[in-house]
Amino acid sequence: MKRSPPPPVIDAARVVAYAFVDDIPYLPAGARILASEGLDQAPRLAIAVRLSEPSGPVIFHCDEEWISRGASTAESIERAKQDAECNYPGVGNRWIDTNVTVEEALAFYDSETAGLRCSFCGRRPFEVEGLIEGPQATICRGCVEEFFCDFQLDTSEMVGN
Ligand SMILES: [Zn+2]
Repeated sequence: MKRSPPPPVIDAARVVAYAFVDDIPYLPAGARILASEGLDQAPRLAIAVRLSEPSGPVIFHCDEEWISRGASTAESIERAKQDAECNYPGVGNRWIDTNVTVEEALAFYDSETAGLRCSFCGRRPFEVEGLIEGPQATICRGCVEEFFCDFQLDTSEMVGN
């Protein structure tokens, strides 16, 4: 199996480190990482930081194509590596840093989403709850609610008069 490096972004998170673990037997005992059902042995691990919230990193349990099949969170990148070590003993000296910058990650994200943004507030898909694409414009749920509330207000004022 060819071992290709991951894309700069997985599931709207900037990949900071990755490791190949297809040849390390998965240790379920004492596991602090919960892979999704049917994926006890992930061949790839990626530690990433969500683009939306610069909080603790995420560990992605990926398949050979770097598609995330399960994810867990950690307080820090060091902690994420310690967690991974519980499931994949020896992975500690395999981590490869990507050095992907936030700018590079956002550029990749925009290329993947064709630069999709809310036409009204300019936010990207990962920054909003939901984007509704229309023929002329795209609008996020936040803007819909804002405009809808304004509309309700205006209507009640009109009725009041
Ligand atoms: Zn918006």
